[in-house]
Amino acid sequence: MLLEHLNTKLKAIEAQSLTRFLRQAESRTAPRQIVRGADGIARELLMFCSNDYLGLAAHPRIAEALAEGARIYGGGSGASPLISGHTVAHERVAQTLADWFAPHIPQARAIGFCTGYMANLAVVTALGDEQTEIFSEALNHASLIDGTRLAKAKVTRFGHADVGQLRTLLAASQAKIKLIVSDAVFSMDGDLAPLPQLLALAEEFDAWLIVDDAHGFGVLGAKGRGSLEHFDLKSQRLILVGTLGKAAGLAGAFVVAHETVVEYLLQAARNFIFSTASPAAIEHALLTSFDLIEGETGVQRRENLVRLQAQLRKGIEALLARHPRLGWKLAASETPVQPLIVGGNAEVMQLAARLEREGLRVPGIRPPTVPKGEARLRITLCATHSAADVEQLLAALASAAADMDRVAA
Ligand SMILES: *Cc1c(COP(=O)(O)O)cnc(C)c1O
Repeated sequence: MLLEHLNTKLKAIEAQSLTRFLRQAESRTAPRQIVRGADGIARELLMFCSNDYLGLAAHPRIAEALAEGARIYGGGSGASPLISGHTVAHERVAQTLADWFAPHIPQARAIGFCTGYMANLAVVTALGDEQTEIFSEALNHASLIDGTRLAKAKVTRFGHADVGQLRTLLAASQAKIKLIVSDAVFSMDGDLAPLPQLLALAEEFDAWLIVDDAHGFGVLGAKGRGSLEHFDLKSQRLILVGTLGKAAGLAGAFVVAHETVVEYLLQAARNFIFSTASPAAIEHALLTSFDLIEGETGVQRRENLVRLQAQLRKGIEALLARHPRLGWKLAASETPVQPLIVGGNAEVMQLAARLEREGLRVPGIRPPTVPKGEARLRITLCATHSAADVEQLLAALASAAADMDRVAA
């Protein structure tokens, strides 16, 4: 019965062109990666899909630091942090992050998690108790949404970047504790949340602001500290969540907030208490990643990202001007996430498949990850792409657009 039931649901997914596939990479995460296709054949592809924005995942110093960490600490951590899994390496990572964000969050303290998904579930469920109302931005990441589903708090959604609506909702709220929750950089659109305005509302209405900076950490700000540095925010009401699996090139996540908030997470967040601590070797390597992010490597790579973004946007805008009939749109993004909105599910998957045949891997993103009718290529740039790599993508997109325009005519 179960298999029949699941097969019916799988067929419905297929009928909407929504089936997802797992592929196997055979080399490290880098702009060029060897990937085994659905036909079982391994090919080298030029990748525009990774969130390894600074190209640190393949950095030799990170690999060396991981190996060194493994020699010191061995493999797994063996237990949850409060039992015996917490090491000096975990503590140093937390201390570094607390120091980094002290200028933005007075009395900052940090706590680590194994993934950003877990960190988001932890903050939203632990803080979202019965006396709390959560104001959740419409385009928040799935992990924040899952957190609101598990939380005991009342949950109120506000429209994407709709500061006016949020103000009305906050003004009407009777809740004792108010939590505003928003991505800093929206993962499928690449745009930035109006964080200064959200924080001003938090100050005005005695609310707190949870910022998920998964795509800003390492990328935004002169030192790569992310959205808080980019907007120069400072407030005790900021609760920052970041992941270390994207620009930091490794794995893990953190929450930085006022020390009392973090102490409460340590006592109450079930995802922290009941889950094995991350391997210490990863924490050891994160210290090297932090050096790279704030040092000369990080500065140069962030500069290169900005150049590549400008090159890509200019090229795509010219292409859209030549083919208005296709109805494609380039999202208004100032980050390495540069989505090209194509529209239909089948159309975007055909386009992605064509690019792959030409040696380019750019994922098609479909509903429910994005709204219906707004399926898109989620192009992501990496600081280790070259200008020639971006040119190659633009040329492939231009020839695909010309062919699709002809078919549409
Ligand atoms: C990737 C992502 C997460 C989850 O982080 P992981 O470390 O990959 O689990 C959370 N929020 C946003 C906005 C993300 O893009």
